[in-house]
Amino acid sequence: MTVNLLDLDLDGLAVFCESLGEKRYRATQLFRWIHQKGATDFDQMTDLAKSLRDKLPSSACIEASKVVSRHDSADGTIKWLFDVGAGDVIETVFIPESDRATLCISSQAGCAVGCRFCSTGHQGFSRNLTTAEIVAQLWFAEHTLRREFKRDERIISNVVMMGMGEPLQNYSQLLPALRTMLDDHGYGLSRRRVTVSTSGVVPMMDRLAQDCAVALAVSLHAPSDALRDDLVPLNKKYPIDELLQACARYQLAAPRDFITFEYCMLEGVNDTPEHARQLIALMQKHAPNGLSCKFNLIPFNPFPASGLKRSGMAAVTAFAKVLLDSGVVTTVRKTRGDDIDAACGQLAGDIQDRTGAKKRMASQRQGMLSGIKVVVAEGMGL
Ligand code: SAH
Ligand code: SF4
Repeated sequence: MTVNLLDLDLDGLAVFCESLGEKRYRATQLFRWIHQKGATDFDQMTDLAKSLRDKLPSSACIEASKVVSRHDSADGTIKWLFDVGAGDVIETVFIPESDRATLCISSQAGCAVGCRFCSTGHQGFSRNLTTAEIVAQLWFAEHTLRREFKRDERIISNVVMMGMGEPLQNYSQLLPALRTMLDDHGYGLSRRRVTVSTSGVVPMMDRLAQDCAVALAVSLHAPSDALRDDLVPLNKKYPIDELLQACARYQLAAPRDFITFEYCMLEGVNDTPEHARQLIALMQKHAPNGLSCKFNLIPFNPFPASGLKRSGMAAVTAFAKVLLDSGVVTTVRKTRGDDIDAACGQLAGDIQDRTGAKKRMASQRQGMLSGIKVVVAEGMGL
C-alpha cells in the first residue's frame, strides 16, 4: 500500500522509516524536504540516503487534493476549492495583511453540528478529512505561493481552522496536522499562530489542552442556553456553563490570552444591549474559575436558506460598547465588502456550470468565509 506522507507527523514518519528498515532520524530530513521545500519527487531529495530514496517510490507518495478552482480577490485574498473525491469539495482561503499572512483551513467536508447561521451547517455532514487532506491545504498554498511570489522564506505566518467543518469532531486526524504545523522541521508555527475554532466540543477541548494547546476560538454566539440551543445545536449536549468551565481549564494549559470568543451578530436574534449585559453576567459568573476573555463580534454573512439578517453597524457598536464599558476586550470584524461578494457570486456560477450541485453548496460558503477573512484580516478595536 502506498502511504501519502502528508498523512504523517514527524513521529509517524519516523515509524514509517523504521518500517522500511531505515533509521528514525532519516525521517527528519525527509520531513524537511516535504514541508520546508515542498518536494514531491523523491529524486530531488539529493542528501537523503540512497537506500531510502530507492525504497520510497514504491511505498510512498506526496499528494495534495486536486484544485477545482481558484479565485483571486483584488485585495490579495485567494480562495481555492479542492476536490476531495465523491463529489465533496472543501475550501481554503489565503488572507495577506501587512504584518501577517493567514491561511484558513477546512477540517471536514460539510459539518454535523448544523448551526443555523452557517451554510456549511445547512449543507450537512459528508465526511472527516484525513490528516493529509488537512495538511495538504497548507503544504499546497505555502509552496504554490512561494513559487508565484518567487520567495524562499516562509509566506504563511498564521493558520486558523475556521474553514468548513468542526475540527474537534475530527480530532484524531486534526492532531497530527497541528503537530506538523508546529514542528520546527515542518512549518515551525508557534502555538499562538495556530488557532482551532470550535463550536464547543467540551471533551475534545480538554484533550487539545493536554496534547497540543494552540490558540482557541470558541464560537459562543449567545448568552443563554435557550438561545444557544437554537443557534448551535451542540449546546444541548455541552451547555454554556460546561463550555465555559472547559475554557477555564484550557487556560490552565495555555497562556491566558489564548482563548477568544466568537459572536456572530444576527439582527434581532442575539444583538441587543440586553444580550450583551447577559454575556457580561455570564463571564462574571465564571471569573472566579479564572476565566479571562476577549470577544470578537462577527457581522453575520447572510445566505438565503438561513432566513437571518446581519446586524446593523449601530447595533454592533452599541453591543460592543456594553462589553467594553465593563472591561471586556472586544473587537469587531469589519467586512471588506463588495469586491469579495461580487467575486463569490462569480465563483458560484463558475463552479455550478462545471461540477454540479454539491459543489454549488460548498461555494455558498465562500460568502461566509469572506466574513471570516475579514475577521482575521481586519480585527478592529473599537
Ligand atoms: N466549526 C468551527 C470552525 C468553523 S466555523 C466553529 O464553529 O467554530 C468558523 C467561524 O465562522 C465560527 O466562529 C462560526 O460561528 C463562523 N460562522 C459560520 N457561519 C457564519 C456566517 N454565515 N457569518 C459569519 N460567521 C459565520
Ligand atoms: Fe459546523 Fe462551525 Fe458551521 Fe457550526 S459554525 S455548522 S460548527 S462549521
